[in-house]
Amino acid sequence: MDELALDAIRKNVTGILQNLPPEVMLVAAAKTRTAEEVKAAIQAGIQIVGYNYVQEAEHLRQTIDEPVKWHMIGHLQRNKVKKAVQLFDMIETIDSVRLAKEVNKQCTKLEKTMPVLIEINSGKESNKTGVLPENVMALIQQINNLSNLQILGLMTMGPRFGNPEDARPYFKTTKALFEQIKKLEIPRVEMRYLSMGMSNSYQIAIDEGANMVRIGTKLFGTRNP
Ligand SMILES: *Cc1c(COP(=O)(O)O)cnc(C)c1O
Repeated sequence: MDELALDAIRKNVTGILQNLPPEVMLVAAAKTRTAEEVKAAIQAGIQIVGYNYVQEAEHLRQTIDEPVKWHMIGHLQRNKVKKAVQLFDMIETIDSVRLAKEVNKQCTKLEKTMPVLIEINSGKESNKTGVLPENVMALIQQINNLSNLQILGLMTMGPRFGNPEDARPYFKTTKALFEQIKKLEIPRVEMRYLSMGMSNSYQIAIDEGANMVRIGTKLFGTRNP
């Protein structure tokens, strides 16, 4: 990796951080990136690194010891939960009772409480992960008594569009759910983080109330194969 490319990453990070509203947290979506690339992003101010795969995160954590937070942003398989709860500071992709129970079980063993977001399938796409908007209340009710989980908000991907403006309704749906749940004042459930928006859509997501955005391409450039 040449110094010019790393410099470009640093510049991208600085530019985006300068233009984000102060209350919006930036998660660097680091899938396929090398430790060098991630370190360059951290040098420029990244404080949260997001991973889609447990194995990849495990590998990079061995070489990166900067004090950043690590978020799981990809679909989490139950057989990876044991590793995941050791690696991550937040799991953004809880979408079923079974997954939540497994996270709780593994966290209990470690005497650790895991902050989690509920992933919403806001586009109601049949091939996508996330809980359907109409089922989110039932899910929260079934998992909010799990002692070693702390529900702190919602996350959504939304359908991918060429024109990011088309993603707006899905961000609106998710924000409405977020507010609805907040109003209910469910014990132990806090609606603090709303994670939505990626490289091509984060400005629209922020418009619609996101306070956490997950950006990959715009920080690191086109993805490595
Ligand atoms: C890859 C990824 C992102 C970032 O996507 P870009 O378009 O590269 O910014 C955000 N969220 C999740 C869950 C991802 O997998």
